[in-house]
Amino acid sequence: MLKALNLFKIKTLLLIASLLVLSGCFPSNDLGRKEYLLQGNTMGTTYSIKVVGENIDKAKLQQGIDAELMQLNQEMSTYIADSELSKFNQSTSLEPVNVSMGLARVIKEAIRLGQLSNGALDVTVGPLVNLWGFGPEYRPETVPSTELLNTTKARIGLDKLVFENNTLAKKIPDLYVDLSTIAKGYGVDLVAEYIEANGINNYLVEIGGEMRLKGFKHTGELWHVAIEKPLSTERAVHQIIIPKDNAVATSGDYRIYFEADGQRFSHIIDPNTGKPINHKLVSVTVIHPSSMTADGLSTALMVMGEEKALAFANEHDLAVYIIAKTDHGFVEQSTVKFMQYLK
Ligand code: ADP
Ligand code: MG
Repeated sequence: MLKALNLFKIKTLLLIASLLVLSGCFPSNDLGRKEYLLQGNTMGTTYSIKVVGENIDKAKLQQGIDAELMQLNQEMSTYIADSELSKFNQSTSLEPVNVSMGLARVIKEAIRLGQLSNGALDVTVGPLVNLWGFGPEYRPETVPSTELLNTTKARIGLDKLVFENNTLAKKIPDLYVDLSTIAKGYGVDLVAEYIEANGINNYLVEIGGEMRLKGFKHTGELWHVAIEKPLSTERAVHQIIIPKDNAVATSGDYRIYFEADGQRFSHIIDPNTGKPINHKLVSVTVIHPSSMTADGLSTALMVMGEEKALAFANEHDLAVYIIAKTDHGFVEQSTVKFMQYLK
């Protein structure tokens, strides 16, 4: 008998190192700049945005950001039954359908990263996610049977999803696309682009732990970000990084999982085995200009496990920092490209 003992829905793996009081606006300094804090909810999590400038109309900016995020949710949330993606998932037609610009952008990157990672990142893995109880559908009481696992595995694979000329088509009627692994990162990019389009070039955008930053704080210092210690019981700083004008994404299975008979089941599925990942890698942090790319890569590397992840990161010249669990505690390793960001 298996019981879902421990499910932590909150996944904010990164903390802003400099803890600030929760007022809407911070005092100006010699530079005449102010820091404005915008907070809200989206994609089943929270967002926290800091913008730095002079005379920013905070309410108007937040309205614009919320509108962008609402549209994103209406395009690709699997929790909204009539979202564009949900309708595609519900349909059993094999005919190509036109997709919105936003959905096209995310699908294209999902397919690119899926191929690059040799299938470690697979946005058609949804039926397996649901089977293991981490999707919007249901939470199972038992570990699925091998037979059910195999029939479900037959329903997944990026080769069954065709994206061409801004149209999307299924090759099997019950293909299910779940973009949750890169949608938050895309949301961060969307918000960052919106902020820049409004003439603001100093900001920090964070949605559910995914971040993108640019420029400076109101004090004139660079933004600092902390990688958390990989513990599900407490929140503490493990390593401070200075990512400069980049996005930071962390994938880790120590906040969202369930436990059964002493075994821990991650919410990240290895598409090759059809099972939740089960190795010593506990967190992967990626720094990249695009939050969507960083988000997808962090999950892909998490699926690969320690050795493959480091080999892949070096081969593709990626800025990656990993924490693995050993008998002697946590051991961290970073690629050469990541080292410039370590404080
Ligand atoms: P993390 O930040 O820990 O990588 P995310 O929330 O970004 O986690 O992504 C995990 C979610 O992505 C899961 O809840 C599931 O819906 C989906 N998922 C799980 N395994 C995979 C995979 N191999 N490829 C793509 N998506 C996955
Ligand atoms: Mg991710």
